[in-house]
Formats: sequence, C-alpha cells, structure tokens
Amino acid sequence: MSLKKQIENYFESIQDLSGNIIYFDEMPEKKLKKNDVTVVNTRTEQKVINNLADNVSKNICSNINLNDVINNDKINNNVDKDISNTMNTKENMNNNINIEHVKSLQELNDLIKDCKNCDLGKGRINLVFGKGNPKAKLMIIGEAPGQDEDLKGEPFVGRAGQLLTKILAAINFSREEVYIANICKCRPPGNRKPNGAEVFACERYLQKQIELISPNFILLLGLTAADTLFKKTHKMSEIRGKILYYNGIKTLITYHPSALLRNPNWKKDTWVDVQLLRKLYDEEMLKQQQ
Ligand code: SF4
Repeated sequence: MSLKKQIENYFESIQDLSGNIIYFDEMPEKKLKKNDVTVVNTRTEQKVINNLADNVSKNICSNINLNDVINNDKINNNVDKDISNTMNTKENMNNNINIEHVKSLQELNDLIKDCKNCDLGKGRINLVFGKGNPKAKLMIIGEAPGQDEDLKGEPFVGRAGQLLTKILAAINFSREEVYIANICKCRPPGNRKPNGAEVFACERYLQKQIELISPNFILLLGLTAADTLFKKTHKMSEIRGKILYYNGIKTLITYHPSALLRNPNWKKDTWVDVQLLRKLYDEEMLKQQQ
C-alpha cells in the first residue's frame, strides 16, 4: 500500500474516533470511508510518523489536507509550517488557567469553575468537579458527566451513579469514603464520548486532583478513563483484572456502570474486578498499620 494511502487510512479512522484533534497512539486496525482530514494534533505521533515514513520526524503536525498530499516533501513542508500553530493552540488551551501552584481541591475547583477551555464548557449547566473524601485512599474515575450530573453538578448521580453506589456498597465502601471524578468535567452533548481535544484540555485538572488526593488505589471505569491515563488504546478483555500503576498508584480497570446498564452480562466480571480491588485495598491498609 502506498504511503499516501496508509496515511489517509490512518487519519480517516482516527478522525471518526476523536473528532478534529487527533492523538496518535498506534496505527488503527479499522478502515473507515471518509476523506479530507484537515486537523492533526498529537502527543506521540513521532513513533507513528516514523513508522509511516522515516524521513518525516517532527513531533507535531496539523492542518494537513490529506487530499493534497503528494509526496513526503509536501508532508514535511506542512509539518514544519504547522508545528508552531499547533504548539500555540496547545499552550493557549492549557495556560489560560494556571493550576501549578494549587494546594487544595477547593482551590482548584474555585480556579476552574468558569473554565471554557474546550467546547464542552459552552453547553454545560454545571461543571462537575468531583466529590468525596479529599484524603480518599480510593479514587474512582469515570468518563464525563451525563445529563443528571450536569443538572446537579455532582458526578455519578444518575442511573449509572446509583449502580456505582450499589457496587461500592457491595464491597463495603461508601461514596463519602472515596473520591469520585471524571476525565472531563463538563457534559458532552448527547452524552457522547468526549473527543481527543476535550480530553486533552481537561485531563490536567484530573491529574491535579490525583496529585492532591494522592490515593493508594484508583479504579478506572471504562476504557476512556483507562486510555486517557495510560495514553494507550486498550481492550477491556486485556486489561481488567490486572494491576497497573499510574504514577506509582495501583490502578484497576473495570466496566463503566453505564456499560453495565446496557449489557448486564458484564456485571459478573465487574463483581470479580471490584472484589479484587477490595482484597488489594485491605491488604494495603493492613500493611500500613503494621
Ligand atoms: S470539559 Fe474541562 S477543559 Fe472543557 S470546559 Fe469543561 S472544565 Fe474546561
């Protein structure tokens, strides 16, 4: 397959998954039928670009109209031209709220409560910051608020939230004991998955929350949370039941409660996952007491 075709196939697939700003983590397996990808903005594409063409070695490229791509020189030209634009966009998006100095969740909440760093900020009723014990030893992270959460300004208060409460109760955790947050703090329209640009704009708030809470365990609900934290595309069947480490914090991944509402067959696996979490948690607490 020609280089041009490989690149077209790649961007066509990823655009559908991530919207107009695209994160390269690996070459897609699936081919979709769309043309004319015009915006590319990446974190790890050096690896991908190098896979595609050894002589294209820049880190970031954007605004490449793939229908115009004729040869590698043209790609290189576009990459060079667009690096600074993309860097500026990233910088603007990330720097207009400085959270480096923040020392508490309340301070962070106050700083970002009017955030409009991505399009989700335009449509929200409430920013859903997160809720729970600021010193929680277990942090639970989902994807983004839904309608109920947007209305109330609290995470996991709708049907999926009620199921999460029951799951937690089944392994002897109360909601007050843990801290619950999402990757994105504002509701995506129609409860769609947040796209790459929205995740990119918002994830540093979550990173700060994790830093401030400093939990012993993280439970990630669904693949959006897992893929965002670990910067990699996963398959649920391959990662659930394993202990991963996010910045040294023991992390487990299971199904999002919304997925369980759609597919109750996954509840059995989730039960196994959360029991493992409880076991590891108890072992860790015991170790800390000794
Ligand atoms: S989703 Fe996050 S980055 Fe986007 S507007 Fe809301 S708080 Fe800001």
